[in-house]
Amino acid sequence: MDRDRSSRYLQAMGVQVWRRRGEENGTGECAEASGLAGSLMAGDPALCPTEVASEPPTRETTEAVPSDTPAAMGWEQLHGAVTSCRACELCETRTQTVFGVGNRGADLMIIGEAPGADEDRQGEPFVGRAGQLLNLMLQAIGLKREQVYIANILKCRPPGNRDPRPQEAQRCEPYLMRQIALVRPRVLLSVGRISAQNLLRTVAPIGRLRGCWHEFGPDRTPLMVTYHPAYLLRSPDQKSRAWQDLLQVARRLRDRAGN
Ligand code: URA
Repeated sequence: MDRDRSSRYLQAMGVQVWRRRGEENGTGECAEASGLAGSLMAGDPALCPTEVASEPPTRETTEAVPSDTPAAMGWEQLHGAVTSCRACELCETRTQTVFGVGNRGADLMIIGEAPGADEDRQGEPFVGRAGQLLNLMLQAIGLKREQVYIANILKCRPPGNRDPRPQEAQRCEPYLMRQIALVRPRVLLSVGRISAQNLLRTVAPIGRLRGCWHEFGPDRTPLMVTYHPAYLLRSPDQKSRAWQDLLQVARRLRDRAGN
């Protein structure tokens, strides 16, 4: 991705773009956000010391999986199961389920929290204002929305945009686990506290979870946590931190592209 295009997307995101002295006429290295990206170039930080409160959600099992459980389903059957799901009371208030969208063979899978009002209306994740910022964040690292796969912890909107309840997340989890297993992404990007805490089985605050690599599931898929775009809209001063996280994702995808 060329530097000028990346800078334009960063500016559209509201991230202040700094150039090294002498770079203004296009001779230097990549644009950096708030002067912080330099330290990132030194190499991946160590894995986060994630506090695991219970077993991670995906585990290898030797037991046969019944054919009517999500873990045994292909895409179409899984989609149908989600559409007709009545496993929690959110089915009473949803307009429709929000399954997930994008490239089913994506290198990068993004996992948000739950549909909001716009998503509930349109049946697609991240289509509101937060979704527009997410699109810009992706574009800033050279990815189009259609290239990644996007899903949520919950497939139905919690009324009034309240936080998902633990039991709702638990009932919905087999669908998301199957989506991750089917996509088999190289990298997972968990956006927001609810997503990160559910995926990593922790109650640690997002400020401690973001910015370093975690491993997810039996494939030990690299997982990066970053701030939710809705939070970034309310707290634009945190955008430079999110940009640092995205740079790490971009580099990981690039490093692993040849594997
Ligand atoms: N926020 C989310 O976490 N997911 C969506 O799909 C929309 C907003």
